[in-house]
Amino acid sequence: MLEKDIEKVLVSENEIKEIIHRLSTEIMQDYHDKFPLFVGLLKGCVPFMSDLLKELDMHLEVAFMNVSSYHGGIESTGDVKIDMDLGTPVKGRHVLLTEDIVDTGRTINAVVDLLKYRGALSVNVVTLVDKPEGRIIDFVPRYVGIEIPKVFVVGYGLDYEERYRNLPYVGVLKPEVYSKE
Ligand code: 5GP
Ligand code: MG
Repeated sequence: MLEKDIEKVLVSENEIKEIIHRLSTEIMQDYHDKFPLFVGLLKGCVPFMSDLLKELDMHLEVAFMNVSSYHGGIESTGDVKIDMDLGTPVKGRHVLLTEDIVDTGRTINAVVDLLKYRGALSVNVVTLVDKPEGRIIDFVPRYVGIEIPKVFVVGYGLDYEERYRNLPYVGVLKPEVYSKE
């Protein structure tokens, strides 16, 4: 029933599988001897992080944080708020932040700065989707699944007003979905 609200699939289930295979290979090469701390940014990271972790044949630790910059709508407000902080110290750790999407770069940049300030040895970012055209802050994620144009997408963790995170692919909503309210 969710599919009827989707205008276009931008990243299919198969493409996501290929992306995860490629990213996990790169990450294992770089981190296999570093016992990294994977920090997932909730809630959008959940499907991506879950699938990615299962492909990583190495020792790692998992933790979560919930930060917000979008407040329900489809435009960024610019302020980044920590709604739930990490339960694991990052001091002396190699951290890999796991994000669903990087747009303006504000959210991820703020979190990277915070974890470095707390003494992380290194902080890199793995994101499923990157929208480089949306950048306001100069930020380049270390691992990028796919670059897309500046459109608002949902699915595979990404929401519109908390819905559609459970779609198994990434797509664009039909305009009438936004005008229903
Ligand atoms: P940034 O701070 O880079 O502008 O925004 C990053 C956050 O904004 C993401 O973690 C995500 O929650 C939200 N966001 C940015 N672009 C999109 C999009 O196209 N779709 C959805 N659902 N969320 C987005
Ligand atoms: Mg997010």
